[in-house]
Amino acid sequence: MTDQTSCGQRAVGEREDAQVSRLITWLSVMAIAFLIGIGAKAWYAGHNTHAWVLWSFVLVVAANMAWFAHTGDRTAQKGGLLLVVGLLFTYLIASGGESNTGPLWFYVFPPLLFYLTNLKTGTAVLLFCYLVAVIVFQFPGMPLVSTEYSTDFKIRFFATLTFESILCFVLEASRLKARNELVALAETHEHAAKTDELTGLSNRRDMQNRLGAEFSRYRRSGHHFSIALIDLDLFKAINDRFGHDAGDAVLREFSTLMKAIIRQTDVAARWGGEEFLLLLPDTSLLQALTLAERLRSEVASTRFQFRGADLPVTISAGVCSIAKAGSIDELLKQVDVHLYNAKEAGRNRIAPRVRSRDASTAGTA
Ligand code: GH3
Ligand code: MG
Ligand code: MG
Repeated sequence: MTDQTSCGQRAVGEREDAQVSRLITWLSVMAIAFLIGIGAKAWYAGHNTHAWVLWSFVLVVAANMAWFAHTGDRTAQKGGLLLVVGLLFTYLIASGGESNTGPLWFYVFPPLLFYLTNLKTGTAVLLFCYLVAVIVFQFPGMPLVSTEYSTDFKIRFFATLTFESILCFVLEASRLKARNELVALAETHEHAAKTDELTGLSNRRDMQNRLGAEFSRYRRSGHHFSIALIDLDLFKAINDRFGHDAGDAVLREFSTLMKAIIRQTDVAARWGGEEFLLLLPDTSLLQALTLAERLRSEVASTRFQFRGADLPVTISAGVCSIAKAGSIDELLKQVDVHLYNAKEAGRNRIAPRVRSRDASTAGTA
């Protein structure tokens, strides 16, 4: 579950990062258009220095875009844009922009900041910007500060900006909460749709998907794989003699034992009732037979107990390699025939039988 959960979250995170990246690209394009336009307006109004400053910001935004196109570094892209926007707004507050309306651009900052960063970083950056604005407002005589605002403007500016910032914070926090709850819910459903409730193994549907994927991999790159169909022997008798709960306990205990024996890359599924299917990637028939035999002998020598009673648990299994079948359907048919043969031959055995000469080379096959 943890693995699947983190996988799901990574996928969602990756999608969101890509979305944010696209948004930043569009915002950068819009910013360039605005800066060129407003710069031109300032130029024609005779405010040449202001125009040049705005146009130089065009270069910085474009450089940030070019750097991202070159490196694909999304963190740098985000940080770059926020830095440029922060500097631009500081300049607009310090210079007053056109007719002392520069600070109005600051209202763009809170929503952008909270969307592009997390709540903590957003709040910290915003507080820093507030501090810069307070200093500029309070000390109009400072170098680089070329304007002065009325007290009424300053009060209203801070009041409305604070209101906007708090609203953005609350909205972003609730958006994130709803998003996280949805992701968790989707993951729970996804996990439930793939998992057998009793044993925690993959269910039949998940195994069918995995078989399909493994078969495609085999067709693409020739990676062989094998499967083993395992059936608990005379399981009905266990249920009848010891009760259904004892049967359930055996199914669970057998699943735990099987998981402990197979490799991490192998997949174990409950195929139905008391039947299990093992998918063994990169495994030859001989290696699969050896594993099945190990599992069989482990089960036969394990003491299964339920409420003090010893339960007679053994397994039979059919094994088949994709090299001996042309499709998944054929593979499943053949493995079923082998399982039937193992049952017919007296149960507590694996089919096809491993010849001792073959078994000695199983490790290298
Ligand atoms: P064989 O060796 O030929 O496989 O005999 P068997 O008794 O194992 O096979 P059969 O198909 O006659 O019986 C399977 C039994 O498995 C019948 C069914 O009640 C039981 N079973 C299937 N699913 C579950 C389950 O989830 N819990 C329990 N306790 N029993 C189950
Ligand atoms: Mg059975
Ligand atoms: Mg059966």
